[in-house]
Amino acid sequence: WIERDIGIEFGEWDMPVVDKVTFQSTNPKIFFGGDAAWGPENIIWAAAHAHQAAISINKLFNGEDIYDRPEPESNLVSQKMGVHEWSYDNDISQAKRFIVPHADQSISLKDIKVEVELGFDEKQAFEEAQRCLNCDVQTVFVEDLCIECDACEDICPTDCINFIDNSTEEDIRKNLRVPALNLDQDLLVSEKLKQTQRVMIKDEDVCLHCGLCAERCPTGAWDMQTYLYEEAKIY
Ligand code: SF4
Ligand code: SF4
Repeated sequence: WIERDIGIEFGEWDMPVVDKVTFQSTNPKIFFGGDAAWGPENIIWAAAHAHQAAISINKLFNGEDIYDRPEPESNLVSQKMGVHEWSYDNDISQAKRFIVPHADQSISLKDIKVEVELGFDEKQAFEEAQRCLNCDVQTVFVEDLCIECDACEDICPTDCINFIDNSTEEDIRKNLRVPALNLDQDLLVSEKLKQTQRVMIKDEDVCLHCGLCAERCPTGAWDMQTYLYEEAKIY
């Protein structure tokens, strides 16, 4: 049932020749998985093959190298719901770490069996959770969408976005709005931007993941995306 005259080569058992990494056939626009690729497999393999083929197709459509693949089951998903709405709580709390309440010493010192750390009550636990910096939510920048209005640079509360001329790493680190002194933290450096040939440089160390850059950006060049990572067996 697979057409024979559309550039697909067939190999052993008269099955199509399929790349085991990309699931691409010898016709670059056609992908196979499951039974159609290598003969009888179970449904779980077929689903895993479909995921991999979908990654390849997405990369092909975006003109990317289909062999440059994400780690197994990693995913970046936009958190945008409306213009100013996010599916995660991005209100940054200024609270310092809350101290876990202890039992009264007049009681705990008298009895070794008394539990000393009482734990947070519901209200304290909620406030402590609000201190979360949403490290699983990433700022993702798409150069091609940026019109270099610099609005995101203006609104960022921690000055971690910079539009500057590219230079040596040493120079750049000194000349950012907030000097990037932690050499263990790589900088995000974009490709050269079309209009001014500057680059966008961001120091992740000072980002609060508040999403204000993505709210302000008129073109959607910034997006807030959750990074999901889950190991899955492919073969
Ligand atoms: S998420 Fe907030 S802190 Fe991070 S770059 Fe955007 S505006 Fe700045
Ligand atoms: S707000 Fe958007 S379009 Fe403007 S400079 Fe920032 S990323 Fe580029």
